[in-house]
Amino acid sequence: MKICRFDDDRLGLISADGKSVADVTAITADLPAIAWPRSNIDPLMARLPELRGKIEALGRSASWIPIERVALRSPVSSPSKLIAAPVNYRAHIDEANADKGINFGKTIKSIDEYGLFLKASSSIVGPADGVRLPPLDRRVDHEVELVAIIGKEGFRIPRERALAHVGAYSIGLDMTVRGPEDRSWRKSFETFAVIGPWLVTADEIPDPGNLELRLTVNGSLRQSASTSALIFDVPRLVEYASATYTLYPGDVIMTGTPEGVGPVAGGDVLECFIERIGTMRVPIHAAKQ
Ligand code: MN
Repeated sequence: MKICRFDDDRLGLISADGKSVADVTAITADLPAIAWPRSNIDPLMARLPELRGKIEALGRSASWIPIERVALRSPVSSPSKLIAAPVNYRAHIDEANADKGINFGKTIKSIDEYGLFLKASSSIVGPADGVRLPPLDRRVDHEVELVAIIGKEGFRIPRERALAHVGAYSIGLDMTVRGPEDRSWRKSFETFAVIGPWLVTADEIPDPGNLELRLTVNGSLRQSASTSALIFDVPRLVEYASATYTLYPGDVIMTGTPEGVGPVAGGDVLECFIERIGTMRVPIHAAKQ
């Protein structure tokens, strides 16, 4: 099942061909109202398995809207954590070490020497929102990444049980200001975490370790790889992250980018594709002073 958030917080069911959307917002009446203090748990992700039947039934009686007529937002809005994996593909480590514009004179090692980092949840947007470049005279790069969205809470989850805690997958863009500063600062600017175009429930992706991913800029191919080349695969990332943090439904793990990263400019259009998920088109907006 593919689920999106669109327009002004409408919930949508995506057709099998990805070309249309049914408004199933009515099921959100079954979710608890926001209480104080706000929970760490995304109520939709927590209850998605039990709501599936109702969502599908609503879809059967809904009128379907062509996908190009809606504005696709991020399928998760405010997770307790947006966790990201640094340098998790060997060929990306090699390109980073060959480019002073990326490594700033330091030798880049691999994920097992860095651990994970957090991006600000407030940087999350959907493809329709696009990326707004910050008013800095700095290089800003695209990084396309497979995104895992947690469906079931857990702490110290062993890799053998890790995939049972992933509720859905999506496509992520981990936008990055290059420079010597901490990743959590350089990657947390407003609009720097694009997630979309929808989430795909985990049952449709039994093996997240064998998905083609690609990114084009204005139609020319920049990134093309397979998640089979991940150094820490999705089960290991869930194990690794949950050794530190409790993972809550709705928490997002950006799994790292393959080789081919490069700078973007205002007016560019990115197309991000991941097999079994789909394609998201993301405009890059010039900086506002
Ligand atoms: Mn990244």
